[in-house]
Amino acid sequence: MSGSSTRAEKKKKSVHVGWEVAKLLFTLIFNSEKIPGQVDRLDDALTNHCTRSNRTWWINRINALTRPRFVRRLIEKKLNKNTPLHECVNLTLDVELSHDKVFYKESTFRQKWANWYENHCSEPLKFFIPGSGTFPEFDPKCDSHLVYDYDAVLEVIGEVLQAEESGRQIRALGSGHALTPIAQSDDYLVCTQYLNVTNRPAKEFIKAAYRDGFEVEVNFGNQTAKETHYLFETSGGTKIRHLIEVLEKYGWYLMNQGGSSIQSITGALSTSTHGSGIGLGPIPSMVRSLTLVGTGGKAYRVEASEGVTDPVLYDGKIPGSDRTIELIQDDETFHAVLVGVGCMGIVVSMILEVQPIYGLFEERRVRNWDDVKAEMTTSPDLYAYLNAHRHFEVLINPYIDRKATTDTTRKCLVTTRDYSHSTDKHPNARKERNYLSSFISGINISGKLSPWVFNRNPDAIPGMINNSLHRIEDYAERGSGFEDTARKVLDQGLGELKFYGFATEYGVPLDRVVDAVDLILRTCEEAIPYRHYLAAPFSLRYVKHCPAHLSMMNTGDICMIELVSVRGVTGSYTLLRKLESALIEFGAIPHWGLSVLPWTPEMVEKAFPKFHLWKKYQQKFGGRTFLNPFMEDILAPRTDAIPPS
Ligand SMILES: Cc1cc2nc3c(=O)[nH]c(=O)nc-3n(C[C@H](O)[C@H](O)[C@H](O)COP(=O)(O)OP(=O)(O)OC[C@H]3O[C@@H](n4cnc5c(N)ncnc54)[C@H](O)[C@@H]3O)c2cc1C
Repeated sequence: MSGSSTRAEKKKKSVHVGWEVAKLLFTLIFNSEKIPGQVDRLDDALTNHCTRSNRTWWINRINALTRPRFVRRLIEKKLNKNTPLHECVNLTLDVELSHDKVFYKESTFRQKWANWYENHCSEPLKFFIPGSGTFPEFDPKCDSHLVYDYDAVLEVIGEVLQAEESGRQIRALGSGHALTPIAQSDDYLVCTQYLNVTNRPAKEFIKAAYRDGFEVEVNFGNQTAKETHYLFETSGGTKIRHLIEVLEKYGWYLMNQGGSSIQSITGALSTSTHGSGIGLGPIPSMVRSLTLVGTGGKAYRVEASEGVTDPVLYDGKIPGSDRTIELIQDDETFHAVLVGVGCMGIVVSMILEVQPIYGLFEERRVRNWDDVKAEMTTSPDLYAYLNAHRHFEVLINPYIDRKATTDTTRKCLVTTRDYSHSTDKHPNARKERNYLSSFISGINISGKLSPWVFNRNPDAIPGMINNSLHRIEDYAERGSGFEDTARKVLDQGLGELKFYGFATEYGVPLDRVVDAVDLILRTCEEAIPYRHYLAAPFSLRYVKHCPAHLSMMNTGDICMIELVSVRGVTGSYTLLRKLESALIEFGAIPHWGLSVLPWTPEMVEKAFPKFHLWKKYQQKFGGRTFLNPFMEDILAPRTDAIPPS
């Protein structure tokens, strides 16, 4: 094909996509009932008439078009006609889309902090910003990552002492992504954004057997194999996405990750954040050593009994100071401090187990939930069923689409991922996820528009969820599948949209999953007459046992059930509260970062059987200094609470 005819062809395709985008906008404003059909046509245009650069061009063009305030006001005006006030669209982009709140060291203002969902906030008496790292312009190539940041340790020690001398409590903040009030405090807060100086292969004081890689046995796809893993040292405030960038520099990667990488590494550790894969533990399972500053400004380096630090080499000295970092190598202590929920002190650094960069091949299939359920309940070996792939997860539509003309079974999407080198299924695998979802999730205002779409016609949600599951279906037999480096595959690829979703999550033992799902489906069904819906499928993610006392995986291999909806969809929050209440009654384990009801001591004691042990260590390391109202209610319920009438 000649250059000019290629250009003409490209132009034609671009016009086609432009036409479908324009029609979608028109439908959105003037004829919202027809949105599903128009979305399908846009999907077809993006998939069959568009290149990657075309799509990016359109995303940038739409973002530029909708950036001027008057354009957004115009769209709002059209959409909000005849819309109740609480469901009106507000297309401000300014604050919400700065996903990382940046706090400046030199600021003289009084500070206000809120978590990402903005359901908990603090106006702390003092706001400390220790560390000399860079944020948000973190540079993975910076040479200063090669040194240990002792200055930060001393700075944090000073802040803890200041708090204790004034009789105040103090608490570290990560990225503020927990939906629970676990980061909130009215006394002193520590912003950890700049605690990100150290990011290097861990070699200093490390036992020779661990210094240059060590062998571990893994079992994925029901096959045991040996892998060489490495140790990497990172500062406590490093954001996971920055950590990944530095790891890539060394040709390494995390063993697994959750659906988002904007959390701080300690925020994720402190709440036992996890991904999916029955042979893969949560973040605390990847941590081999933890350095923190506890009550009295004492610094500790805590590890398992057979820890990675060589006690003979280790001197614990902090250069330029008479303070030391005490080495503790003891399983019980380590398992207590790992998931500290901010109460064990301020984590200044940690050593993680990582592995060489790997590729993953992903398949996503839409199936009938009843068939998957039958496979799970009749499987002679449930573990082997779940471990048939390195990663296995299921997204279930909470609703049956009763308006569907043909198929009225409950749909789910089964996702599996395997090392790309371990499968020969991927000759046609694409290096891109579903075009429509990556397209929509790149557009700034789409997150703000989606609740409006759901609120406009809530009874269409069951069908919309089915459509979205079908849209992201992608597997080898159909001639595709998705293959890339683990980083691209494990990131859920929701772009801007994920900041408008919110979720709660509960752990259930493997043999109770089907009953828990039935309970969720019943509860969702009961809310339909009131038009209260979850606007997204819920997920089953499988996680390996983790010995950390407060990990949701402490009692064994666990299925984490994540219930998701979209911010601003009327009735979703209420429904999530009902679901949480029913699941806690059922005996499910709540996620420290993803829950909407108050927590009680009884509930924590039941869900985390080693809580009594954890409390003992919390007194030693954190004491009252590192508690906040949420944790005080769990540890020692306030006596001034108003008794029930
Ligand atoms: C879009 C999104 C996707 C998510 N995906 C997943 C997922 O896939 N899997 C999953 O399990 N969870 C997931 N979560 C939940 C999330 O991972 C947890 O809530 C996590 O705690 C957030 O980390 P953070 O850095 O924002 O911590 P924050 O919310 O800021 O803090 C959490 C806790 O960590 C403590 N803390 C933070 N830094 C330190 C420190 N340096 N020293 C001591 N304590 C500290 C805080 O005091 C607090 O108690 C998701 C949340 C969102 C919003």
